[in-house]
Formats: sequence, C-alpha cells, structure tokens
Amino acid sequence: MPAKGKHRRPKSQGFARTIVVAGVGGAALALPLVGAAGAHAATPAAAHSVVKAAAAPAAAKTYVVKGGDTLSKIADVQHVSGGWKKLYSDNRSVVGGDPSLIHPGLKLTIGQKAAAPAAKSSATATQASAPKAATASGYALPVQGAVGTAYKTAGSMWSSGYHTGVDFVVPTGTPLKAIAAGTVVSAGLDGAYGNEVVIQHADGKYSQYAHMSSLSVSSGQTVTEGQQIGLSGATGNVTGPHLHFEIRTTPSYGSDVDPVAYLRAHGVSL
Ligand SMILES: [Zn+2]
Repeated sequence: MPAKGKHRRPKSQGFARTIVVAGVGGAALALPLVGAAGAHAATPAAAHSVVKAAAAPAAAKTYVVKGGDTLSKIADVQHVSGGWKKLYSDNRSVVGGDPSLIHPGLKLTIGQKAAAPAAKSSATATQASAPKAATASGYALPVQGAVGTAYKTAGSMWSSGYHTGVDFVVPTGTPLKAIAAGTVVSAGLDGAYGNEVVIQHADGKYSQYAHMSSLSVSSGQTVTEGQQIGLSGATGNVTGPHLHFEIRTTPSYGSDVDPVAYLRAHGVSL
C-alpha cells in the first residue's frame, strides 16, 4: 500500500518515507531543508550531490507541494507578500516554465529566491519537435505533447529524490498509445498514480502510464504498438492534467530507467 497523497511513492525504507508522510499530512508543515538533506542522503539512487541549501536564512522556509495545491492557494495560505506571482518568480527555477503545473513533492522556497537547481535545469517546456507517430523499430511516442518535467529533474528538491518518469503536458482526454507491442500487466487505480496502465514488452522492460482519465485495456490483454490504451487525465495526486510516463525494469515503482533515452534508442524522436 503506497503512502497516500504522493505523486511519487517513497522507497520503503529510511528517512525518505518520514519526510514524505510528513509532507502529506500537514498543510502547514514546512519541512526544513536539513530534513531534506537527510532524505536525500538516504536515497542511494539520487546521484546528485547538491545539498547546499541547509543554511537558509531564518526568514525563508520550505513548503512541500501537496495534491490539489496551486501556486495561488499556497501564496494565500502562506501569506506570501506579492502573491503567487512573487512565489512563482522566486521558484521559477524549480517550477519551470508553466506555473500551473506543480507536482506534489516539489519543494518551494517561501520568503526568498530559490537556489537554481544544479542538475540539468533546462526543464522548461520543450516542444517535442516533429514526433513520429510510429517507427520502423516498432516503437512510438505514448502521446504527442510538450515535455514538461524531465526525468531525474533536480534530485534535491523532490521528496523521493528525483522525478521517476517524464511528463508530457497534454489536456485531459488526449488518446494515449502503447509505445510498443506487449502485454498489459496491470490496469486500474494505483494510489497516487491514479488510473494507471503498466505494459510488459518483449525486451523485458515495462512502460507505465499514469494519471489517466479512462482506461481502454485490461490486465492480461496483449496490445500492439500505437494501440490506444485510454485517455490522459489528472487522476491520483497531480496539480494539473498530464501523462506521467516511466520505463522500468520491473512492474514496480523504484526500477525506473531514463524513458527519453529508451524511446530514442528505439528510434522515436522527442
Ligand atoms: Zn511526473
């Protein structure tokens, strides 16, 4: 049973879980970055070594985004002078180019400008240029849309260490496609991921599609490349509609690999 209320579930051990649960439970529970540093250190998969924000001035605090939050709601509740625009401008480096798309687990700095993420931070919406619908290699994009939050985005600002997939920013109701032929190993509600489909492919890898508004496949069914598996949405813990897409080495959370590199390696342009 995953911890409720998270876009990404914590690993089942260590400090990271404590942090995540605390972030879910208390709206006003601002986690100090010292705690975040501990969580970060306890996450072996997070390869980033950037934890230098521990000594923030007393005036600034960290807020962990929960499901249902918007920048304006947070600005309101936290009495941010200057409102959501100020909050956004202070946190633009972590929020990215779209102020309406913030993820549960994202850490916002309130009261001062957030340090720019040290990891590859050009996570601003990048239009997927001329995406192919299908390829000779038998692989296709799950959906045509702008890439929002990139894989492994800036480890130190995510409760779970890093973003475990890639987000395609598409409105609710956009058809989603199986990236390759395979067998559906699960299709249904999965906690924070909302309506989710997981497909096993011939190479042993799994593709995961989360936050869907409706599913058109069921567990055990075989699918072909490009077959519609349902529609995108905003189910589970999200703050706006998008497709959260992962490639995994097992059906389960925590076995993610770079989904963009995987698709590109199979001849898909994005
Ligand atoms: Zn995501």
